[in-house]
Amino acid sequence: MMNGRCEHFDTDRLKAISITGVARRLGVELLRAGSSYKARCPWHDDHHPSLHFDERTGKNHCKCFACGKGGDVIAYVMQEESWTFQEACLWLSQQYGISTLPSNSNTPHPKERPKDEAPSYTYIPHEMLDELISAEDSLCRCLKLMFQPEAVDWVAGEYGIGCYATKGYDDYTIFPSIDVEGRVCNLKIQHYDTDRFSPRFAHSDPGSCRWLGTIWASEGRLPKGARFKSDCLFGEHLLPRYPNHKVALVESPKNVLFGALAHPQMLWVATGNKGQLKRQMLQPLRGRDVIVIPDCDAVEEWTATIVSMSDLANFTVSDFCQRMAPAGETKYDIADYLQDLHPPMPF
Ligand SMILES: [Zn+2]
Repeated sequence: MMNGRCEHFDTDRLKAISITGVARRLGVELLRAGSSYKARCPWHDDHHPSLHFDERTGKNHCKCFACGKGGDVIAYVMQEESWTFQEACLWLSQQYGISTLPSNSNTPHPKERPKDEAPSYTYIPHEMLDELISAEDSLCRCLKLMFQPEAVDWVAGEYGIGCYATKGYDDYTIFPSIDVEGRVCNLKIQHYDTDRFSPRFAHSDPGSCRWLGTIWASEGRLPKGARFKSDCLFGEHLLPRYPNHKVALVESPKNVLFGALAHPQMLWVATGNKGQLKRQMLQPLRGRDVIVIPDCDAVEEWTATIVSMSDLANFTVSDFCQRMAPAGETKYDIADYLQDLHPPMPF
């Protein structure tokens, strides 16, 4: 994550970035609330938006009227993405082009861990994942309207896709982050629109993304205050199993499933989101042939980042999504393209 370097983030500037702008960039759905906005609270299991954003003069924070929690821009990003302080600051700095401060002092940030101390992560026991495996989740149901059901089941099995069927999360799709060592780092859950009459029916419901590790830690099923390894590529556990496959690297796990179904001759992996394209995360790709396929709004950013990592693997960046995007579409990805190409039968 840190390239072994001690970074000093300009936290004053990071905290001054518009908090609603940050929420939008994270894909959070915002609803008008008087002169400001509200959204679902990432600190508790929130079904009705209770998190209010306050951007009045001199203020730039959020607070939940239901659970009372909230905080500044950095605290909000940490909670929304299950990131550490360092990860949240790095993402904000990169997204908004805010440079780090020269490190002329040896005083580490109070929350920064000493460099040589190995991070201690909590991994999720495989038994907890096995309980959840089934192909009846919202996304696989959508995929079965477009692809052979047997193929969907096979891809779901390869990536460990399952369904989190519990109160409030019925048929949420689970995307496990399993590292090259086979350890389950965390479980992202997301709900998908299953209305087959809508043109892009396999789109995620905004604001429905949650991390099961965090939920289970808050419920006491995992240690309280557990830290989860977040620099794991979705699908990286398959790399050792297919050592000669060309790798396709995309942003979202959903695109991995679409890609793997349409082009199974390549091994598809995902960073999780646009800001996660980082050297530490790409280490498992060392020495491989990799085609990088950013979403249409990330081509320039990813190309620049990949150039700086050309020593790691044989990368080629494709502007396919940008070229195929209909005029005016700012978010367009492999899954959109494939849905346009093979619309599901409306029955
Ligand atoms: Zn709350």
